[in-house]
Amino acid sequence: LVIGVPRETFPGETRVATVPEVVQKLIKQGYAIAVETGAGAASNISDDEYREAGAEILGSAAEVWSKADIVFKLRGPNEEEVGLLKDGGTLVSYIWPAQNPQLMEKLAAKKATVLAMDSVPRISRAQKMDALSSQANIAGYRAVIEAANAFGRFFTGQITAAGKVPPAKVFVIGAGVAGLAAIGTAANLGAIVRANDTRKEVADQIISMGGEFIAVDYEEDGAGTGGYAKVMSEEFQKAQRETFAQQAKEVDIIITTALIPGKPAPKLITAEMVQSMKPGSVIVDLAAEQGGNCELTVPGEVTTVHGVTIIGYKDLPTRLAKTASTLYATNLFRLSEDLIKTKSVDPAGEGAAAIKMNMEDEVVRGTTVIDQGNVTWPPPAPKLS
Ligand code: NAD
Repeated sequence: LVIGVPRETFPGETRVATVPEVVQKLIKQGYAIAVETGAGAASNISDDEYREAGAEILGSAAEVWSKADIVFKLRGPNEEEVGLLKDGGTLVSYIWPAQNPQLMEKLAAKKATVLAMDSVPRISRAQKMDALSSQANIAGYRAVIEAANAFGRFFTGQITAAGKVPPAKVFVIGAGVAGLAAIGTAANLGAIVRANDTRKEVADQIISMGGEFIAVDYEEDGAGTGGYAKVMSEEFQKAQRETFAQQAKEVDIIITTALIPGKPAPKLITAEMVQSMKPGSVIVDLAAEQGGNCELTVPGEVTTVHGVTIIGYKDLPTRLAKTASTLYATNLFRLSEDLIKTKSVDPAGEGAAAIKMNMEDEVVRGTTVIDQGNVTWPPPAPKLS
């Protein structure tokens, strides 16, 4: 079977769906790999490195799509790319089926089999293929680097011959994958780190990453379905705003990562709180793509309000392209390993038609959003044991 890796076409996208180390592993699994020329350039990976790893380099996207039984991609395909996908071919990429019904229809019309990296079930067994986590981890790290770059002081406190420098104070809101990565990174740089999350279960994780858990003075647990957060009561939100208003006055840097699946990002940092921050402070809003956790965030932009820099980048993983590509490629490799174990090959079939997904497997079932032209998303709710 041939796995094809085209160059990403989304403007500003620097990542690529496979890297030379992973090419070698896929070849050992029995796949042949075809990579479009220049696919790794923005991640600093040359055609020669892919070639040395055993991949064939093809001169155009059209050649890659037509040769591939399985296409590995990062961003969901655009209209032209859907046109290039072989009838009955297999595609593995982000899809976000709830937000992209037309894309789903077009792929189904192609009788495609589509595995959505955004739909990998978030259970322990599937962690190794969980691209949302691998990329969120990078975003959390990079958020701290961006904050440090915009901040005019050390993170770590120092006593030097030239004087005493206090440590920076960092407040992280939301301690999921990205938030915990931000806490660890800021603590490693020597900052004093505080964090809040509506899910009480994360308090210990915050402490283990080097942060202090800041509690809200109102009794309500934010754990919703599937380990995600829920929308909190009005009373809780009021108490939380009071806590955050106090933190805003005290800290130098706020990193916000709070998300609730299927809802716009909760607005947690008000314009008034921004105004109360010390000049030179920095806010990095990782929820910018979902509208932002700060009222004043401009998604995709860096703005300065009352001397406070507000960073609303929506592309933090792409700013660490090589690492992001390597971890994404490894997620895909782990997924392909599982597919090999669980697929059954139709002896009469050839190429892509020979792949039959084991839809009894919870991870394969959850990730497969279209199975040979049949829309299989959303998957049935997990059985309660
Ligand atoms: P997310 O990106 O959906 O949300 C980020 C964080 O924001 C969450 O911790 C959430 O509780 C918090 N939040 C939401 N509203 C808030 C508010 N108003 N105030 C403060 N904080 C708020 O989360 P995520 O990183 O995708 O992780 C969600 C859960 O899934 C976590 O429990 C995580 O451990 C779990 N998870 C499991 C796996 C796995 O087992 N394979 C993989 C990844 C994540």
